[in-house]
Amino acid sequence: MTENLQPVPDDWTSALAIVAHPDDMEFGCAAAIAAWTASGKRVTYLLLTRGEAGIDGMAPAEAVKVREEEQRESAAICGVESVEFLDYADGTIEHSLGLRRDLVAAIRRHRPELLVTFTHHDFTYTGKWNSPDHRNTGRAALDAVLDAGNRWIFPDIEDEPWGGVKYAAVAGSTQPTHAVDVTDSLDVAVASVEAHAAYLSGLGLPPGAARGPLEGFVRSTGERFGGRPAIPFELLRF
Ligand SMILES: [Zn+2]
Repeated sequence: MTENLQPVPDDWTSALAIVAHPDDMEFGCAAAIAAWTASGKRVTYLLLTRGEAGIDGMAPAEAVKVREEEQRESAAICGVESVEFLDYADGTIEHSLGLRRDLVAAIRRHRPELLVTFTHHDFTYTGKWNSPDHRNTGRAALDAVLDAGNRWIFPDIEDEPWGGVKYAAVAGSTQPTHAVDVTDSLDVAVASVEAHAAYLSGLGLPPGAARGPLEGFVRSTGERFGGRPAIPFELLRF
């Protein structure tokens, strides 16, 4: 755990982020996304659900609209131009062939060089048991990278195979290997977290509560990254 983190490679132009819920990107790595878009890289978000089961005091029929809106605003703050939703049911995502197929279709359509996802491991970086939605989404996304390049797997998908994904950057991992300097994007990241106002309020967090934990997180990551505030990732190469 004390080894230094390496910089996430820079030799890519387009990323696709695949996560289960609104707010997964914001709590996981929004500062890195904002740093990338500020440097001219293109990032698209693909969410499997609209997070309708995420607010205890708000029924899913209402939450589905509120959370989609908050996610779109939050992504725009980070310079993300496109946000797509796949309409899986929040809380019951399975690592199925159907999910792999949907993610392969997305990868072939967007042709990213970097895949971003939230941790597929049993535990998150906070030491807590990870949700099955995160585990299944992360594992299916990583599996879909391999499938996407093989024309004989899911051959009914119209788009050409895409074997150009070079890396996957896994946020929230207990085993980070790399990091992104977020010196200049921290304020943007705080704003993107605060855009999830109904969700934060549902958690009982007052306005302004996002900044302290986020600053602490990037500072402690920086202790392994030359003292620069940073967002950590587990990097996989394909
Ligand atoms: Zn989540």
